[in-house]
Amino acid sequence: MYRIILILGLLGALYFLIRRALRKLKGREKPDGILPGANQMIQDPVCLVFVPKGAAITEDIGGQTYYFCSKACAHKFQQKLAG
Ligand SMILES: [Zn+2]
Repeated sequence: MYRIILILGLLGALYFLIRRALRKLKGREKPDGILPGANQMIQDPVCLVFVPKGAAITEDIGGQTYYFCSKACAHKFQQKLAG
């Protein structure tokens, strides 16, 4: 029983990896109507996760633009700045 769960988990991970790879290939051919450079990976300063620029949450703080993986991280960052 545990083996089935393990195999299903691996298949699921594989599925996501393949889907991500396919999406990347497609994005290279046709940039999905997003801005050029949208596929550029940028790092979230809060959780240190890399996110595509086009999908990131942007916040202008003190004249500088920061990119986050989620609104929660943007909020956390602002709280951190506020002290
Ligand atoms: Zn984050």
